[in-house]
Amino acid sequence: MAHHPKHERTLVIIKPDGVQRTLIGEIIKRYERTGLKLVGLKMLVPTEEMIEEHYLLDPSWKKKVGEKAISSYLKKGEKPPSTDPVEVADSVVVSLKKYMSSGPVIAMVWEGGHAVEVVRKITGDTEPRSATIGTIRGDFVLDSYQMADTDTRAIRNLIHASGSIAEAEKEIPHWFLKKELLNYRVPHEATLYEPVLDTAPR
Ligand code: GDP
Ligand code: MG
Repeated sequence: MAHHPKHERTLVIIKPDGVQRTLIGEIIKRYERTGLKLVGLKMLVPTEEMIEEHYLLDPSWKKKVGEKAISSYLKKGEKPPSTDPVEVADSVVVSLKKYMSSGPVIAMVWEGGHAVEVVRKITGDTEPRSATIGTIRGDFVLDSYQMADTDTRAIRNLIHASGSIAEAEKEIPHWFLKKELLNYRVPHEATLYEPVLDTAPR
């Protein structure tokens, strides 16, 4: 195997609403208790340019975000604001620039087994209204496509988390310099990852 999954890294951003709701500790706890390791952390107010660049790092993101929104409206029997995915995405980008630069955020890099997938699972679906109970977006907030689009703003869902390994690999260097990411060991990594688990007394 080229690269062991235990070295996988993902980007998480606690968005301005997460900081305002004083959920920083709660959110970090949820990722930390899985065994994932925090290898980078900073607080900043992003510029609109940083946000636009961040969301356009993946050229296929626009189409995907538009399609996801349209299908979510149709599933609920509601009318989407447009049937053109790229048109939907263009207005999402405008809203996201305002939302994400509206105040301090916490940017983090988490490392560990299947970090991208595990973090997405804990974070929950994009729309808090339909996110599963037990996920951060399902437990701590209630926003919807319908409310956000009615008020021409981004869905307030507390967190950004990389959607795939490829996305993470582009997003991490957008937010962190190499030297800001720390390599260190924590004892529980042995229990999580060592091929032989042998702690019996002798
Ligand atoms: P994520 O990966 O789950 O965060 O979702 P996406 O990458 O698809 O979208 C990025 C962010 O844009 C989401 O977290 C929401 O804050 C916002 N967003 C996505 N789709 C829509 C939409 O159709 N309408 C509005 N108003 N906001 C959206
Ligand atoms: Mg995304």
